Amino acid sequence: MKQFGFWLIVWAVTASAQAASLNEIKAALAEPGKFHLEFAAGGKDVNTVIPLTVITGPRPGPTLLALAGVHGSEYSPIVATQRLAQELQPESLSGSVVLVHMANLPAYLGRTIYTSPIDGKNLNRVFPGDARGTLSERIAHAISRELYPLADAVLDMHSGDGNEQLKPSWTGYYARAGSQDVIDRSRAMAFAFGLPHVVEFQWELIEAKAAIWAGSAAVARGVPSIDVEAGGMGILDEPAIDQLVTGVRRIMAHLGISSEEFAPPPEPVLIRERASVRSPADGSWNPLADAGTKVTKGQRLGFVTDWYGRPIFEARAPFDGLLLLRLEAPPVRAGETLATVARLP
Ligand SMILES: [Zn+2]
Repeated sequence: MKQFGFWLIVWAVTASAQAASLNEIKAALAEPGKFHLEFAAGGKDVNTVIPLTVITGPRPGPTLLALAGVHGSEYSPIVATQRLAQELQPESLSGSVVLVHMANLPAYLGRTIYTSPIDGKNLNRVFPGDARGTLSERIAHAISRELYPLADAVLDMHSGDGNEQLKPSWTGYYARAGSQDVIDRSRAMAFAFGLPHVVEFQWELIEAKAAIWAGSAAVARGVPSIDVEAGGMGILDEPAIDQLVTGVRRIMAHLGISSEEFAPPPEPVLIRERASVRSPADGSWNPLADAGTKVTKGQRLGFVTDWYGRPIFEARAPFDGLLLLRLEAPPVRAGETLATVARLP
């Protein structure tokens, strides 16, 4: 019954909105003004749309694409892009900003964490997607093959998921993937966003098909890209929303899209190594340490119980560092991350 109701909602959204074609988005990029559009993901077999706002200034300049809602229960970036869509005025801009408010509307409406309720897939693991694949794969394809070619830079904005506590907020970039020029420009964006922690991803994406994350798929196409993480736990986190709104505005100034002036950001803490503690079994998580706090090697971060409340696993910090992320809600499956610790320089 629940599933039936959900399909009705998706149908109603699709039916009531006139989904824009790629050519209409291109026209919006060429004509000064502000355009709220719904972009159809998946060609003829449409059953979702991607709500986006294109804001184009009267002077030429680069195009920034800011993605929110790749994970549907990560609300702070979604709200940040909605606020920017209302606040930003085209008259003052050189170039364009494309704000993707909800990349994964099925997961948003379905209130799911990690995966889509339609195909059970994690949108941030199926890039660059497949035009003839499942719904998540078609969304990924629409973003990477149709929207990315329009962009000079990409921001992929996330939070801790609906069940995850994430602190502090950070930006991340691929330090070893893509050309040196893309690495340098991505690094400059990661710093310009202005958050006090920057994570250097160490993955090498030798083939485009290994770039399964939204941000890495942009890098694989030669488009500088950073990941942003702020907020979590399925709530509207106002300080995180402020950081995201300010960070996007800072990137616009960094790229020359706006002439807004910002003080240079403080030198960030660089994180090159992270380690996750995973649950060995299905069970219930009981956290003991807060994200954003410093932990010492061997410190108990929490424990997992069986269905009867009997402890079956203790999560301990693998090294001294900063607890970046931990589960907030109890349910956990075997192999899932319980906590992530960053080694501090
Ligand atoms: Zn996410």
